[in-house]
Amino acid sequence: MLFDTHCHLDVESFDSDRASVFERAYAAHVTRFLNPAYDIASSRRAVTMATTHPDVTAAVGIHPNDIGELNATSLAELHSLAQSNRVAAIGEIGLDYYWNKFPKEVQSTAFIQQLELAVRLGLPVIIHCRDAYDDTLDILGQYASRVKVLLHSFAGAPRHAERALTFGFYFGIGGPVTFKNATTLRAIVSQIPLERMVLETDAPYLAPHPHRGKRNEPAYLLLTATRVSEIRGIGLDELADITTANACALFGLTYNMAA
Ligand SMILES: [Zn+2]
Repeated sequence: MLFDTHCHLDVESFDSDRASVFERAYAAHVTRFLNPAYDIASSRRAVTMATTHPDVTAAVGIHPNDIGELNATSLAELHSLAQSNRVAAIGEIGLDYYWNKFPKEVQSTAFIQQLELAVRLGLPVIIHCRDAYDDTLDILGQYASRVKVLLHSFAGAPRHAERALTFGFYFGIGGPVTFKNATTLRAIVSQIPLERMVLETDAPYLAPHPHRGKRNEPAYLLLTATRVSEIRGIGLDELADITTANACALFGLTYNMAA
């Protein structure tokens, strides 16, 4: 059984065939899903998705590219949405210096406000980080003893991976590990302890080879899992068991191998 720890099942690109997307996922042994949010509307949709589908768990939060929405009112709504027992994390939150839609100070303030929310609620955080690993890890280091951290779609350098490991953070590994040029990422994936690793698609984005550039969906997690099991030299079943158990531990969900 595989756990897709990062799939945006609520977005419009799945509106026309969401039921078949779930069917194909189950057929590919992908049976659990974490639906993260990126703004207030998607936070609401993620909670609805998780309320409708017993195998979907939600995260709520505002992505660094959408923090124009963050204010006292929206923060209060996030707090209230996160009270739902279907919400298992705050995310995706973080820093994005690639798009740089907001000044660095504005991004870090929004990031810290949402980290504080996670601390208050006792929830883990799902981190979006693009071209900002040093600052992201500086901030997260301050919270390492208070929140569990998942670095979604990890794309940092080996030194960032080492630093994140000293904090005990989790690494989300997705489609990019299958890309031809992903030598650095594969080297990192070959070395991080298996107990720190979870798998993700980031659907509808970042489809693994040979679907690169097309719409991604949870069923393709099997391609990423297969590649990671080859890199690690372990069986796919073993990798699935370990990463699913990791995800359940991180999100505070029951791990039932038979489920
Ligand atoms: Zn995402």
